[in-house]
Amino acid sequence: MELLYLGTAAAEAIPGMFCDCRFCKTAKALGGKEYRMRSGAVINGELMIDFSPDVHISSEKAGIELRKIKNIIFTHSHPDHCNAADLQYRGYGYCYFDGQLDDKLHTYGNRAVEAVVTRALKEKYDKYSVDFTYIEPYVPQDIGGYTVTPLSVFHANEDAYIYLIEKDGKRMLYGHDTGIFIDKTFEYLAGKRCDLISLDCTMGYQSAETGHMGFPANLKVKERLMNLGAADKRTIFVSHHFSHNGLRAPDCDLTYDKFMEMAKPHGFIMSYDGMKIEF
Ligand SMILES: [Zn+2]
Ligand SMILES: [Zn+2]
Ligand SMILES: [Zn+2]
Repeated sequence: MELLYLGTAAAEAIPGMFCDCRFCKTAKALGGKEYRMRSGAVINGELMIDFSPDVHISSEKAGIELRKIKNIIFTHSHPDHCNAADLQYRGYGYCYFDGQLDDKLHTYGNRAVEAVVTRALKEKYDKYSVDFTYIEPYVPQDIGGYTVTPLSVFHANEDAYIYLIEKDGKRMLYGHDTGIFIDKTFEYLAGKRCDLISLDCTMGYQSAETGHMGFPANLKVKERLMNLGAADKRTIFVSHHFSHNGLRAPDCDLTYDKFMEMAKPHGFIMSYDGMKIEF
């Protein structure tokens, strides 16, 4: 399996689009891995997770052709993850396919995502060759040949999901956006050893545990998943989805290198835009 991170920032991106703080200035000056678009990912170049406001440019940069994506699973309805308005550009006049626009784009998520997608497409799903399927938490689905299981987490005022994704004997957990998982989700993961686990690290050095996490909470989740047999020494752990708020520590700017100095001894790597992991 290959996981490609298209964007790795929280809602305001990095540099923050209206921000002039010390960290955002550092990010601007350094460029490269310090620049972060809004979060999203693609598995094996075909199964997309979330559809951010930056998905057009982040996909172009990574060599992903959006018209070839057939399935998008949404974590929740926040606009940095569910930029449903851009789905209308699949409509006639906005795009021309070689031949017919007959390949549907299938989208999946909770009821809040359904409401946002339906409103954005003005209920004319066929016009845009898009459909939406509501998926229930803790019920595995076959989506494009992947076994995808939404798991409930505490984030936003909705039944936000993180995803357990399996194919060909490989298993990964995409854990965004969320605080420390709820007990039911930890219990569901017991014994399901993952090859890769990607955890929300919006608050960086801070100790946030609810709604979002900081790195100290990532360590707590890792320990619990190890104890539950959902991870072992070979599992790849990634901290992902960063806000400038968590990277402008009082005593230093947590640039990629600085964050890695903190994270590496604990067996974590920091995501960056365009990062690909094969496992
Ligand atoms: Zn987010
Ligand atoms: Zn800033
Ligand atoms: Zn969110």
